[in-house]
Amino acid sequence: MWKPLNYGREQYGELSLRQALAYSNNVITVKLLDTVGVPYFVDFAGKVGLPLRAENGLSLALGSDEVTLNELVRAYSPFATGGLRPEPRTIIRIYDRNRRTWTENPPVITPVLSPATAYISTQMLKDVMTYGTAKGLKKFTQLYPAAGKTGTTDDYRDAWFVGYTPGIITGVWLGYDKPKPGGKGFTGGTVAAPIWERFMRQAVTSRPVADFQKPEMVVSVAIDPATGYLAAPDCPDKRDELFIPGTQPTEYCLQHGGEALNPVAMPPVQPEAPEGQPAPEGAQEPIQEEIKE
Ligand SMILES: [Zn+2]
Repeated sequence: MWKPLNYGREQYGELSLRQALAYSNNVITVKLLDTVGVPYFVDFAGKVGLPLRAENGLSLALGSDEVTLNELVRAYSPFATGGLRPEPRTIIRIYDRNRRTWTENPPVITPVLSPATAYISTQMLKDVMTYGTAKGLKKFTQLYPAAGKTGTTDDYRDAWFVGYTPGIITGVWLGYDKPKPGGKGFTGGTVAAPIWERFMRQAVTSRPVADFQKPEMVVSVAIDPATGYLAAPDCPDKRDELFIPGTQPTEYCLQHGGEALNPVAMPPVQPEAPEGQPAPEGAQEPIQEEIKE
């Protein structure tokens, strides 16, 4: 039986999806894929340009289908561009001997994600570089807002890092032509991320420093990160979290005195049954309204 293990074999307690992504937690990633469903995920991956095969089932969550660096960088680019998937071009333009354009390969750009999904995902991927598996890049992100993701395969055969600023996306892969383990410590965060940083420090200097633009269709509410509910005044820890409107929590944290702030659900009024007699039919049941679509 195949069982997902976290790459460092470490154990975490409860994690939010944001933290699970930052720490690259395998068990939670598999549970998430199980929740959204393999067919949905394969369809989504196809939209961003990753041709994954549904037959691989839940192991897809951990990269059981091989992809190229080119495909992986392309798949991350919609998160960097606010939802647009550009087709990669190796030749942009060819000039004739008089430096006149002889032929041109124009960009082909397809919208594949909502700007809100792209933005929230990017904000989650920023955490990878501040406290997650690539926290060595924290100093870089303080100078240049950036987001990214590490990748480490079973047996430490491949180490990846794909990261981006609003203006440039770069992927790094390390491994052997004939796959063999790179040894303990051969992880995306340890070996690939520093190469990414060295290149990006050069690449970003010619561009203006910019942060990712928050689209209008994103709301920010204060939550208790421990419970995921709206932060009550007594919550020991509070954090602003981003949501697509309609998906944000609506109840205050019950563990820290949020009851008083939550709207009270009125119990249904029940006709009183005379002593010793059965209640009138239907009185014990909450009234169910038929919902017609
Ligand atoms: Zn709380």
